[in-house]
Amino acid sequence: MLPSAANLPLGLYRIAPRVPKLRLSCTTPAGVQMWPTIMHALNPFEGNIFAGSHLDRAGNARRDPAWLATQLGDPAARFLPLWQLKAPIHAKPTPRLNWLSGAQAQESLTSANAILLGIDKEQVPHFAFDAESEGDTTPFANLQYEEVRSIAPSIARGDASLLAQARSLIDWHRRHGFCAVCGAPTRMAGAGYVRRCTSTGCGVQHFPRTDPVVIMMIVHGERCLVGRQRWFPNGFYSTLAGFMEPGESIEEAVRREVWEEASIEVGEVRYHSSQPWPYPSSLMIGCVGEATTDNIVVDQHELDDARWVDRDVVRRAIDQVTAKSFDPFTKTGPRDEPGEFELLVPAPMAIAHQLMRSWVYPDGR
Ligand SMILES: [Zn+2]
Repeated sequence: MLPSAANLPLGLYRIAPRVPKLRLSCTTPAGVQMWPTIMHALNPFEGNIFAGSHLDRAGNARRDPAWLATQLGDPAARFLPLWQLKAPIHAKPTPRLNWLSGAQAQESLTSANAILLGIDKEQVPHFAFDAESEGDTTPFANLQYEEVRSIAPSIARGDASLLAQARSLIDWHRRHGFCAVCGAPTRMAGAGYVRRCTSTGCGVQHFPRTDPVVIMMIVHGERCLVGRQRWFPNGFYSTLAGFMEPGESIEEAVRREVWEEASIEVGEVRYHSSQPWPYPSSLMIGCVGEATTDNIVVDQHELDDARWVDRDVVRRAIDQVTAKSFDPFTKTGPRDEPGEFELLVPAPMAIAHQLMRSWVYPDGR
């Protein structure tokens, strides 16, 4: 299916310098034209893990307590308990989420702790809740749980997105039990998307936060800039990244972070894609930037090392980490075999991998 122009990452409009014989026009009134070479570059990229929910979040309806109560009482409703922020799963025959029925979950569920993830096309409501808050004696403690990061690449893309949504929201509720304005206790409201101060003199509403992070593939001709933190696995390098600051555009944040960490100046910055990253609530904003200088000076407070790497080296590293199907952060293979890799890069589940992949395989692979 062809994406509409409105969904296209902005920077990718510039990929196609060739003049094609055929162009595609968006069917919206805007009628934006898209070149075939652009579609060729985009189609192989199916989006980042943790993005791509198949549910309607019902953002307007969920404010109505009566509507929410009806959804909670729907016999078809499905409930996902997170235990210590881990995902309940059925491991076999293939990993999948272990959704509970209302009857199974009812001991712990009220409108005060059920978070609405959304409604599917069959109008089935899906909820998540914090099973740990009920204490170790609940039956939910006996289910099989996996770390969200470990299980996300193995389950359906839409379900991984729901895990990101559930994990970020539950973590936020845990950290925001008291009003930041007056210090009084807060309580969950709005199907899990609000915490309301319980003080009658205050009553402020608090909303879940998302922390934007820029992550950027910086290129200079046939080389790209990679860096490593001290805590990274041996031989592991990734694209540079950093939190955005208030009053800063995405482009400005990219240029500032690269300058601070490696003293490289960046000119043009293009958007690639984004990825929810629920640790606890980041949004990774993936960009590609053109370096205008190439003399690296590493900020030792920020990085252990930074270097330019040839495109061919990155291509081999991308192929290798994909073929071996491991995540350096959740498996031990690379540490056990330090000489195996010329360059160790992030696994496909990370947007850094996708940024590198789009550079070494511009036509998709
Ligand atoms: Zn308050």
